Amino acid sequence: MSGALRVLLVEDCEDDALLVLRALRRGGFELSWQRVHDRAALMAALAQPWDVVLSDFSILGFSGMEALLICKAVQSDLPFILVSGTVGEEMAVALMKAGANDYVMKHNLSRLAPALQRELDDAAARASLRRAELALIDSEKRFHAFMDAGPFMASIRNQDGHYLYTNKGWDSALCADAASRVGPLDALSPDQLMAAVVVNDQAIMASARAHETIQEFHLTPASVAYRKNIRFPFIGSAGQHLLGELSTDVTALKQSEETIRRLAFLDPLTELPNRRLMQDRLSHALALTARSGQHGALLFLDLDHFKTLNDTHGHDAGDQILKLIAARLSGAMRSQDTVARSGGDEFVIILEKLSCDVDLAAREVVAIGQMILRLISAPYEHDGVSHRMSASIGVVLFCGTAHSPDELMQHADIALYSAKAAGRNLQRIFDPAMQERIAVHSAQMEDLRLAMEQHSFVLHYQPQVDAGGVLTGVEALLRMQHPSKGLVMPDAFIGLAEESGLIVELGYWTLETACAQLQQWSMAPASAQLTIAVNVSARQFSDGDFVARVLQIVERSGIDPTLLILELTESLLLEEVDRTVDKMAALRRCGMRMSLDDFGMGFSSLSYLKLLPLYEIKIDRGFVKHLISDANDAVIVSAIIALAAGFGLSVIAEGVETAAQLAYLKSQGCQRFQGYLFGRPLPVALLDLPVLASPPSPFPLTKTDQYHA
Ligand code: C2E
Ligand code: CA
Ligand code: CA
Repeated sequence: MSGALRVLLVEDCEDDALLVLRALRRGGFELSWQRVHDRAALMAALAQPWDVVLSDFSILGFSGMEALLICKAVQSDLPFILVSGTVGEEMAVALMKAGANDYVMKHNLSRLAPALQRELDDAAARASLRRAELALIDSEKRFHAFMDAGPFMASIRNQDGHYLYTNKGWDSALCADAASRVGPLDALSPDQLMAAVVVNDQAIMASARAHETIQEFHLTPASVAYRKNIRFPFIGSAGQHLLGELSTDVTALKQSEETIRRLAFLDPLTELPNRRLMQDRLSHALALTARSGQHGALLFLDLDHFKTLNDTHGHDAGDQILKLIAARLSGAMRSQDTVARSGGDEFVIILEKLSCDVDLAAREVVAIGQMILRLISAPYEHDGVSHRMSASIGVVLFCGTAHSPDELMQHADIALYSAKAAGRNLQRIFDPAMQERIAVHSAQMEDLRLAMEQHSFVLHYQPQVDAGGVLTGVEALLRMQHPSKGLVMPDAFIGLAEESGLIVELGYWTLETACAQLQQWSMAPASAQLTIAVNVSARQFSDGDFVARVLQIVERSGIDPTLLILELTESLLLEEVDRTVDKMAALRRCGMRMSLDDFGMGFSSLSYLKLLPLYEIKIDRGFVKHLISDANDAVIVSAIIALAAGFGLSVIAEGVETAAQLAYLKSQGCQRFQGYLFGRPLPVALLDLPVLASPPSPFPLTKTDQYHA
């Protein structure tokens, strides 16, 4: 013990007190002490801390028993030793019962020090036990506070399946479960259930590892709840095997997982698998055919003119019809097949377990494809309106994993493209030749795109002359400069440019370049009156901004608009004659002239010749070519010239290669000419402008342009 021992003496005889103190000092104690001998003094002294109370039994006006009771009432843990010469055995027992820790006879004080030491040791042990008890109580309180506060169930079972502990969450969930639980567990009696639980628990205890499960509860047949259980074995303080179980309700989590899964893999409109899931299924289907040897097929289905329906009847109608189509398709397919929506108006069907024989499999697919086309073409009712739809289908067969899913999708796409090109409402099966054509097509497309990016276009100009052979102007003709192929003629890229829409920008570039040329020519008297004819594609003409942009270009270049001739083809008259007339009239008002190119080759309805503010008709070179050899063509050419005269239109013949052709055309009254006889299309620098005053000498005839950039 550190410091002096604090001793409170209850003793009315001072000498006795001194004897007690001496006995203690002899026993090795260092002391600080106080002596009291009545109740009041004892009470006052007990306000201080003491290590021990040593009390006489018979005290004048007081008693050892009374002192003991007071001490125990105030500080129950304070050791109390009776030091007396008079106490009898009976009283000693009574005192011990009342809480005295020991007693020592006054005539045997040598016992006092060891008795006190033992008592102090016992008191220290009691205090430490008490502290441990309090710590345990605190720990229990904390444990329960945590275990009962959380939204989870917790329990501990022993090896026999008996619950040793359950938290509040467990108790209340058990009540709820008992009231509502239905499902497979119902079939078991409580004993069977218990036996199953015990077997399961013991397996986990034997494994010595935590075990996680997701449990599904059908609270009502329609609503499902999910609970996540973690069971973990541990060993109790007595070496007994125990199983802790923590369960949480993960229904909300499961539901959001399900929502995420739906969003990730299902198309929200039709609830069909989306593109991602379809690709996954396709990979599986490939693996399956590799094992079974049976064929599978990938069908890309694209609705024809769906955009028109959307534009005219609204997106709501469009959505409804997509849903109806989804339902028709999935209703018609076998369970092993997949119907997916890959976006917009595109559906994908994966057929599995077709014949092992490729020809038979192809026939099966064709039959299914026909059935699908019929299915799609049945009318759709929406808002009291009946709609019609058709689709195009691209098919590719597969067996094994020779082709990747990506390649197959590319092939199905190629087949679909070919079905569309062949006139829609039909299906096409992919074949490699088809792929070759597509490859060429996309290489050309790439060339064109690159040329657009790098501005690799030039204009060549082909002379147009009058009956006297005098140069009146030129036609601007586009060429592409290819890094390896050299100069590429328009027939190789105009079609692609139209198809891709690039023709619109390309057309404006041509127009700008031609206007810049006119502007340059306007500076020299010899060339100031030359016209330039620029070809305008139907696609460009139908561009909403066409008139505005042409006027802007013309204005900006500062040219005389009457020197600009726009060559239009009949194809642009096929749609919306009113709009066409308006546009042409606007251009005409600004002074520009319009020539109808390739006349005779199109549908050549005469009625519109009256309607359109044309300046000129251009006889197609196809008629000129056979003028001399084919009487029919000669008659047609004469008729066209007469027709033009009848409508008060100028007429020009293109593709004039021989003097005989020229002579015939002149004899029929044709006023202007263009063709190799007068000049091939050439870069402007090679045009023979200084000899403009006299008729140009005929140009040598060869099949292709001689000039190469
Ligand atoms: P096109 O407008 O009918 O142009 C006349 C074509 O006939 C030119 O072919 C020209 O080189 C060719 N030609 C001229 N004289 C003779 C001849 O005596 N004999 C023969 N056999 N052919 C002759 P090119 O330059 O290959 O142009 C082909 C087509 O490409 C043009 O037919 C036109 O439709 C289109 N094109 C050319 N440039 C443009 C353009 O800038 N814009 C648009 N939209 N189309 C263009
Ligand atoms: Ca032309
Ligand atoms: Ca032409």
